[in-house]
Amino acid sequence: MYIPIMPGRYTHASLAIAALAALCVATGHAQDACTLRPDTLRPALSEAPPDERLFAHSLGEVRAALIFIDFPDAPGTADVAQLAPSYTNEASAWYASASRGRMSLSFTVAPRWYRMSKPSATYVNEIGKFVDVIAAAAEAINLAAGDVDFTRVTHVYIAASNHSAVNKSNAFMAPVGRGAKFDRGEIRFGAAFGSNVYRTIPTGSYPAHHLTHETLHTLGLPDLYDITIADIVQNASATGGWDPMGWVLSLGEPLVWHKRLLGWIDPPELHCVERADTAITVRESLVPAGETGAKAVAVRLDRYRVLVAEARVPRGLDSLRGPGGVLVYTVDVRVPTGRTPVRVISAAGGPAADDSSRVRRLGPLHDATLSADTGRRSRLDVPDAGVSVEVTRSSTARFDVVLLIAPRPRSAGGGMLPVHDPTRVRQ
Ligand SMILES: [Zn+2]
Repeated sequence: MYIPIMPGRYTHASLAIAALAALCVATGHAQDACTLRPDTLRPALSEAPPDERLFAHSLGEVRAALIFIDFPDAPGTADVAQLAPSYTNEASAWYASASRGRMSLSFTVAPRWYRMSKPSATYVNEIGKFVDVIAAAAEAINLAAGDVDFTRVTHVYIAASNHSAVNKSNAFMAPVGRGAKFDRGEIRFGAAFGSNVYRTIPTGSYPAHHLTHETLHTLGLPDLYDITIADIVQNASATGGWDPMGWVLSLGEPLVWHKRLLGWIDPPELHCVERADTAITVRESLVPAGETGAKAVAVRLDRYRVLVAEARVPRGLDSLRGPGGVLVYTVDVRVPTGRTPVRVISAAGGPAADDSSRVRRLGPLHDATLSADTGRRSRLDVPDAGVSVEVTRSSTARFDVVLLIAPRPRSAGGGMLPVHDPTRVRQ
């Protein structure tokens, strides 16, 4: 992903946010137990609420254009009308389902290949990623301007021909005035796709999975996989396949935490709990997506972190999954995109040991959930978080959970924990 912002450009706005957060802490009236604010003055992709001045809106109708681009060295040969649905259909269906109809994503497809002016290698760096994706999008938009009314869309996706030097997916989000310009306006949001998406997978349409992931960046969500690791199974060892920001081989539900950031659930569906001066016990019945009721409990651990327990079952977008259960994870707003800001605490004690097709399909933590069913682990103690989670009753669509929450630490700073303390789990 790519954010063309200058350090300090949002200094005033960010200072205002920082001041508000400081005020909330100082007065003891945090605006919400689930609202995490980073200390950084530079807005970026993180687990904080998305800044509406930088990111696209995640509610309502999102209209997009899809442009197929080719190059003098890599002419497009496939029929654009046949290729386009592999990028659009599953993505549109995913947004309709994951948002419960609160966001729609519709496409206008430019009707042919548009030839870029230079050889493909001149546009990309050594790993095949657009060096200036906004300039490339602007070139494509101007090539297709006679066929598409770009004043009617907020997002533009450019899909490079197979065998070009473009080999990475690449989102862009630009502040007002810094987007991809054309004679009647500018496009601030979108993404590019390269040869990397020309791949057949058994779990859906790979281009659409990438388009869904990159679009979520334009809404403000960070990468959950570890961008420093190339292997797509190993780099997903923090969150597995439990969210499209960490895994694109299959496209399941997003984390309830992310649905809250995007406005796709109502506040009562994520029960937010503050720690107290004494130990507290929280009992909740959790239901999965598609049911009415609380979907998750989030316990604020300190200024920057929450621990979340949420219900996930194999139906709807998650239909490929195994037995249902309660997924437990921590979220740290200080950890930047691509450095695992979310960490699943696996009931199985770590990534699945098998390297089966199941791991390839669902991710390395596919067996991470808790359940009261016979033969399944029902309880996790997370000493570093001061929280225990136990599932006391399981059914196909409801999980009774009990959270034991240790008192708030008395030390200065409200018990701030180090970034990425290895979360020790007592098995
Ligand atoms: Zn990404």
